[in-house]
Amino acid sequence: MSESTVRIGLVLPDVMGTYGDGGNALVLRQRLRMRGHDAEIVEINLTDPVPESLDIYTLGGAEDSAQRLATRHLRQYPGLQQAAAKGAPVLAICAAIQVLGNWYETSSGERVDGVGLLDVTTSPQDKRAIGEVVTAPIVPGLRAPLTGFENHRGGTTLGPDAEGLARVTRGVGNGVGDGLEGVVQGSVFGTYMHGPALARNPELADLLLARALGVDSLSPLDLPEVEQLRRERLRA
Ligand code: GLN
Repeated sequence: MSESTVRIGLVLPDVMGTYGDGGNALVLRQRLRMRGHDAEIVEINLTDPVPESLDIYTLGGAEDSAQRLATRHLRQYPGLQQAAAKGAPVLAICAAIQVLGNWYETSSGERVDGVGLLDVTTSPQDKRAIGEVVTAPIVPGLRAPLTGFENHRGGTTLGPDAEGLARVTRGVGNGVGDGLEGVVQGSVFGTYMHGPALARNPELADLLLARALGVDSLSPLDLPEVEQLRRERLRA
């Protein structure tokens, strides 16, 4: 590994990573390598403290009990919070939005204090949201519709410091009636989209990578198979 190697933190894949969310780290690494950067994935498990020195971080979804373990670990070892404070991009999928928020209530009604990186709170809704979700991005730098697969019971309310990632055109999204999907606050991006999200949404991958590399934008990669996947999933 050289000094210029871009280091991608895959945070707690042993407890958070439903529906192949670990694939987001693979997508980031591959898109960096295709552009000639050295890139490595650093797995941070429940046995490891969380380093604050990595260039970009991804966290996946989880069942209620697993997400509680992750919450405790991230509060005990605040490397992710320190990295985000320095502007390192963070991608949080599904349960990870809830974990990084102010607090969340589990399906059994227990309230758990979160990491506090996102000004959001989450409570269980009457009905589980399951299926394809399609949205129109709000965030500058994203143009194409976003596509993913959602499966969550929690509904997430945004506080004043948080903004939505996109507006729902199909599916449920954050699930509290404001029509929003996902959340953005500083360098932290959250979404309910599994898929993995970055395999389906290359613009989002490149937005995060541009921030990790400290550049305004990256020229798109010409990958017909990704376009084919998007066409298929947007029709699904
Ligand atoms: N347990 C959380 C919920 O149901 C998150 C689920 C997930 O990450 N797939 O809201």
